[in-house]
Amino acid sequence: MKENRVLMQYFEWYLRPEDKLWQQVSREAENLKKIGITDVWLPPAYKAAGGRYDAGYATYDLYDLGEFNQKGSIETKYGTKDEYIQAISNLHENGIGVYADIVLNHKIGADEAEFVYANEEEAQDRNKDKAPFEKIKAWTKYNFLARKNKYSDFKWNHNHFNGTDWDESGRKNGIFRFYGKNWDQNVDQENGNYDYLMGADIDFNNPEVVNELKKWGKWYLDFTGVDGFRLDAVKHIKSLFMADWIKCMNEVKPIQCVGEYWNRDLETLKWYIYQTNSTIPLFDVPLHYNLYEASNSNGNYDLSKILDNTLVKQYPELAVTFVDNHDTEPGQALFSWIQDWFKPLAYALTLLRKDGLPCVFYGDYYGIPSHNINPINETLEKLLELRRDKAYGEQIDYFDDYNIVAWVRTGDDMHPKSGLVTIMSDGPGGGKKINVGTRLANSVFYDYTGNIQETVYVDQEGNGIFYCNSGSVSVWVKK
Ligand code: CA
Repeated sequence: MKENRVLMQYFEWYLRPEDKLWQQVSREAENLKKIGITDVWLPPAYKAAGGRYDAGYATYDLYDLGEFNQKGSIETKYGTKDEYIQAISNLHENGIGVYADIVLNHKIGADEAEFVYANEEEAQDRNKDKAPFEKIKAWTKYNFLARKNKYSDFKWNHNHFNGTDWDESGRKNGIFRFYGKNWDQNVDQENGNYDYLMGADIDFNNPEVVNELKKWGKWYLDFTGVDGFRLDAVKHIKSLFMADWIKCMNEVKPIQCVGEYWNRDLETLKWYIYQTNSTIPLFDVPLHYNLYEASNSNGNYDLSKILDNTLVKQYPELAVTFVDNHDTEPGQALFSWIQDWFKPLAYALTLLRKDGLPCVFYGDYYGIPSHNINPINETLEKLLELRRDKAYGEQIDYFDDYNIVAWVRTGDDMHPKSGLVTIMSDGPGGGKKINVGTRLANSVFYDYTGNIQETVYVDQEGNGIFYCNSGSVSVWVKK
């Protein structure tokens, strides 16, 4: 059992094919281990509609991991199948677990279009028909000719989908629900029913689909050796299918997973957790938005409330905490990029606390050159080191002030040099009287971040006055 796990999202949206990500992962595996990364989330590895220029979310062929000449190339944006397998193997050699990013909601880039009957639905209320049944031509036939039935002879057609958003014969956009199909239930309720997201929407009520996706999941685990999955767009997928699929994968071997349910409403996330029997940890989207708002409030955010209404507070075992990701980057669909000055505070809140599985973003560690975003690798490495070596024992919170909040990790005997005090302010700097407990009493502390040069003396009772600068975080450890 790994202690103080840290997941790293190992890609950002604007990577280029020439960056050859799988090769980079292989080269970097040893460094990742060194800095304290225990698990890595790799981007979708199979062929997407845009071939080598596609980030991977426009799923075309789930069995083509960069092996067949489809969509204009053999390799995906990130490399070939062999390079992918090599990268996983190098990560494993360094004791790092691998999460594969999988997109089961839809398919895009069909090989042929076919005529189907469909109802056009109201965009804002997908339970309402906008027009009577009409004949449309939908891109729903997936033949994968170049793969020649290797790994699977399953071919997709309109029977396996609920609907689409393009009528080829009328050259018309819309949300079309196929004749005889209903939208999946147990999905997000936005727009009446948010089953439909994009492309050809997969019908999880079709037993052929369910069987095929289970077969594929088992194949994927066996073929790649990954340790788990990052489940894309779960709010558009029938929750009962997802829970059943995860259960099935766990019969192959115990797997790790995290679901992307993009909704900042805690009640909705609680509903999903209930629907999936607490088997799918979720990204803490509410926490991300709290961090985003704090970073944009010029010091006028009530920092004592930064963890309010978050998943990590309510369901610590089921929260994957993160600061930013490939969708929140500048120019992306869910743009909500946390400002530079707040990043160290945000990462301290995710990395140095007891609860949640923190996820570090590639774009923060390496920077995003296409958008002139600088790496914060040095800050991150310090915080990761603190997590690995110091962040143990009880957690005592001082979330009692509008500007300055702090917490203590008392350390434990399993980690003799452990224990820390994190203190941060989004407004003016200042100090706080803090009790670090008896284990760390009667000693001198210094700020490991280097933001403050002075030392702090903690008396026999464990009391000391700890400081941080304006809009900054300090992490005090025993000298
Ligand atoms: Ca769907």
